[in-house]
Amino acid sequence: MLISGAGDIDDIEHIFAKNGVTSIELDGIGSRCSMCNGLLEERTRDQLKSEIPNKVSDYHNKFYQCAACGKVYWEGGHLSRMRALAKTVESRIGRAAPPPWPHQKVKIG
Ligand SMILES: [Zn+2]
Repeated sequence: MLISGAGDIDDIEHIFAKNGVTSIELDGIGSRCSMCNGLLEERTRDQLKSEIPNKVSDYHNKFYQCAACGKVYWEGGHLSRMRALAKTVESRIGRAAPPPWPHQKVKIG
């Protein structure tokens, strides 16, 4: 199951609960380009020196670049917002009564 963008947390929680989702695979977040769905590859700050604003490179250590279209991403923007959302939803699902169904993981990205 793929969910993109931040919808209402209650809706997401409801959808997950209905589908028996009890935990969220955080590793999958941000592994795809949001522009073209290409694979993101990790890059060092030096590799992207000309691509990222100084303000960004000063405060972030992890950078990614789309292998297909070349779009640059870094932790702290879209990626960390998605992680925060996933964490919130997961903690809310986790507080619910133990589900009778088998545990299932989903990817958000
Ligand atoms: Zn791309």
